[in-house]
Amino acid sequence: MGNCIFCEIAEGRIPSIRVYEDEDFIVLMDINPLTVGHILLITRQHYVTTLEVPNNILAKALPLAKQLAEAAILGVGAPAFNIFINNGPESGQAVHHWHLHIVPRKEPGELPLKPGAPADLTKLPFVAATIRDNLK
Ligand code: AMP
Ligand code: ZN
Repeated sequence: MGNCIFCEIAEGRIPSIRVYEDEDFIVLMDINPLTVGHILLITRQHYVTTLEVPNNILAKALPLAKQLAEAAILGVGAPAFNIFINNGPESGQAVHHWHLHIVPRKEPGELPLKPGAPADLTKLPFVAATIRDNLK
C-alpha cells in the first residue's frame, strides 16, 4: 500500500521501536505517546478500519492486547489502562492502517476525553432501533 507509514514500518523501511511481533501483528512504541508506555498493536497487512480486518485476525488481537497491556502497566508502574481503536477520520484516525492503542494510565484527566451528556430518553429507543435494524 503506497504512502502508508505503518506498511513502511511493517516492511522495515521506516524504523520503529518494537516490543513484540508475530506473523499477524507488530507492536511498537507510539512516537507521540499520550502517556508513558503508550504502544500500538498494528496488523502486518494493510487494513484501514476494524470493519476490514478479517475475524480470524481480530480474534487474536484482543488476547494479545490483554497480554501487552499487562506487560505495559507492570513495566511503567501504572494501575490502569485504556485500549481503543479509532476507525475513520471523523473518529480521530490519523494513520489509515489498522491499529489498537494500549495506553497505561496513572491518573484521570491524562486523555482528552469528555464525559458524555445525559441521553434524551424519548429518543434513545429510536436510536437503538436504527442500530438493531442494521445488524447483519
Ligand atoms: P490514530 O489517531 O488512531 O490514527 O493514531 C495514530 C498514532 O500513530 C498516533 O498516536 C501517533 O502518535 C502514532 N504514530 C504516527 N506515526 C508513527 C510512527 N512513525 N511510529 C510510531 N507511532 C506513530
Ligand atoms: Zn498500511
